[in-house]
Amino acid sequence: MNGLGRGQDQDFFIEEQVRTDRLHQLFRQSFSAVFGSYLAAGMLCWLCWDRLDPRLMIGWLVLLAGSSLLRLSMFLQYFRSPRSERTPQRWERHYWITLVLSAGIWGIGAFAVMPADDRLTQALVMLFAVGMSVSAVSCYSAYRYMTMVSMALVLLPCTLWLLFQPSKMQLGMAIAVLVFSSFVVGASRKLSEALETAFRLTREIERAHSISTRAAQTDELTGLMNRRAFFDKAQVLYDQCTRTHQPLCALMLDMDHFKAINDTYGHQAGDRVLRQIGQVISASFRQADIHGRLGGEEFAVLLPDTTLEVARDIGEQLIRAIAGLSIDPVHGLSASLGVASTHAVGDDLQHLMNTADKALYRAKAMGRNQVAVAS
Ligand code: GH3
Ligand code: MG
Ligand code: MG
Repeated sequence: MNGLGRGQDQDFFIEEQVRTDRLHQLFRQSFSAVFGSYLAAGMLCWLCWDRLDPRLMIGWLVLLAGSSLLRLSMFLQYFRSPRSERTPQRWERHYWITLVLSAGIWGIGAFAVMPADDRLTQALVMLFAVGMSVSAVSCYSAYRYMTMVSMALVLLPCTLWLLFQPSKMQLGMAIAVLVFSSFVVGASRKLSEALETAFRLTREIERAHSISTRAAQTDELTGLMNRRAFFDKAQVLYDQCTRTHQPLCALMLDMDHFKAINDTYGHQAGDRVLRQIGQVISASFRQADIHGRLGGEEFAVLLPDTTLEVARDIGEQLIRAIAGLSIDPVHGLSASLGVASTHAVGDDLQHLMNTADKALYRAKAMGRNQVAVAS
C-alpha cells in the first residue's frame, strides 16, 4: 500500500475512534437524564395537581415511565457490554430511537396537560419545559443534533401553541422561549465542536506517540529491535525468569567476514544481506523470545524456559539457515554463534551476554560458521 493510502486509512481510523469517544461521552453524560426527565415531570404534576386534569397527568407519567425504563435498560445493556461492542454502528440508532421517544412524550405530554385558561400554570409548565431543554445541552453535548432534536421535541408543542394564543403575555413568553433557545442551540454547536476537537487531538497525540515510540525502538534496516529496546526488554525477561526460576539462554550471532562482503559486492548488497538475516531471525523464534540487532552485523536472541542443549540446537539451525541463504549476487554467507545459559552463569544480564559473547569469539577462533557453548 502506498503512503497516501496508508495515511487515508489512519485518518479513517482516527475518525472512527473519535466517533466511538463521542458515543462513550454521550452514554456517560446522559445517564442521569433518564431520572431527571421523569423527576421533572413528576414534580410539575405534583405542583399543579389541583390545576391540571389528573387523568392526563397519570397517562403522561405512565408513558414517560415506559420510555424511561426503555432507556434505562439500554444504558444497562451498554455498560454491561464488552468495550469492543460499544461501537457507534451498534448503539447510535438505538439511542436516537429512545431519545426521540422520551423527548417526544415529554413535549407532547406537557402540551396535553397545559390548561387553556390558567396563565400561571402555563408559565410553570413552560418553565419546566425550558429547564428540561437546557439540560439537553449538558447531556447530549457530544451530539449536537441530539441536543437540537430533544430541545425541539420538548419545547415546540407548548411554544407553538402559546404563539397562537390571544394574549400578549402568552405571545411574549413563546417568543422569549424561541429567542432563548436559538442562543442555546448556538452554544451547543460550539460545545460539540470543541469536544470533537479535543477527542481528535487526543487520538492524534496517542498515534504520534506510538509511532515515535516504535521508531525509537526499531532498527531501521532490519525491522528488529534496536540495541536499547533489546536490552530494555531483555532486562524485564531476565528478571521474570529469575523470579520464576526458569532457565534463560542467550545467543550472540556475528556474521563472518562481513567486511569482505561489503568490499566485494558493495555496501548496498551488504545491507540486503542484513535485511534478509533480520527476516530469518524474525521467522525463527517464538513469541516469548526476544531478538534484536545490537549493531553492525551482530544480533542477539534470548530464549526463556530453554535448556542449554535446546538453545545450542536452535543456534545450529540458525547457522544452517544463514549458510543456505543466497542473496544474489552474494554467496557463501556464514555466521558464528555463542550460547550461554543463566544456569551456567547466574549473576546478571550483562554477565550472561558477556559469557555468550566470549563463546561467540571462541566460535570465531575455532574457524567460524559454527556454534560454541559457554562452559
Ligand atoms: P568477523 O568474521 O571476524 O566477524 O569479520 P567481519 O568482517 O564480519 O568483522 P568486522 O568487525 O571486521 O567487520 C564488520 C563489518 O560489518 C564492517 C562494517 O562495514 C560492516 N557493517 C556494519 N554495519 C553495517 C551495515 O549497516 N550495513 C553494511 N552493509 N555493512 C555493515
Ligand atoms: Mg563479523
Ligand atoms: Mg562484528
